[in-house]
Amino acid sequence: MQIVKDHGPITGESIAEKLNLTRATLRPDLAILTMAGYLEARPRVGYFYTGKTGSQLLADKIKKIKVADYQSIPVVVNENVSVYDAIVTMFLEDVGTLFVVDDDSLLVGVLSRKDLLRASIGKQELRSIPVNIIMTRMPNITMCYKDDLLIEVAERLIEKQIDAMPVVKKTEKGYEVVGRITKTNMTKAFVALAKDDLI
Ligand code: ADP
Repeated sequence: MQIVKDHGPITGESIAEKLNLTRATLRPDLAILTMAGYLEARPRVGYFYTGKTGSQLLADKIKKIKVADYQSIPVVVNENVSVYDAIVTMFLEDVGTLFVVDDDSLLVGVLSRKDLLRASIGKQELRSIPVNIIMTRMPNITMCYKDDLLIEVAERLIEKQIDAMPVVKKTEKGYEVVGRITKTNMTKAFVALAKDDLI
């Protein structure tokens, strides 16, 4: 790195000469430094020092992660199911947020744990109230697409103070739910980054 910093652009051959090593011995090391982003190689010119610090390279890496790399399978309920059945679904599927769809399987709402708790503390008959009475509804749903950057979605989760958002696909009639992105997915991405184990 110091040689490239001082003498770049410099060929692999010249670096090897300065270190009294063969080009072949040096090749794997140069490949690692290039892949990690510390050096850049240009054909017929040689190696440059990119000037990027470790944290800049980490930031570059984070900004390449897409929603599709970490999204989970969505759990959806029909808008006509009862609050009672939605609570049962939330337990059985072991999720914190349910997405609500209409008869055409298009997104119409979101149900959080607290939405269901709020509906449960009154005197209502939970088996007869449909979820579409208590859900957060369109057009107030925060959603994302599979090609969105994960970091931008994380910022929106924070800004909107929500735990999850549906990953959607736009169709002529509305939005189809194709995935789910939650704070848990963000935690998994964070751990993978620390382990240098990105998908
Ligand atoms: P909880 O209410 O269990 O703490 P959230 O913080 O995710 O869970 O939800 C807070 C409120 O925001 C709820 O009323 C919920 O319906 C709504 N909400 C959750 N996710 C979304 C979303 N993606 N778009 C719009 N509203 C949402």
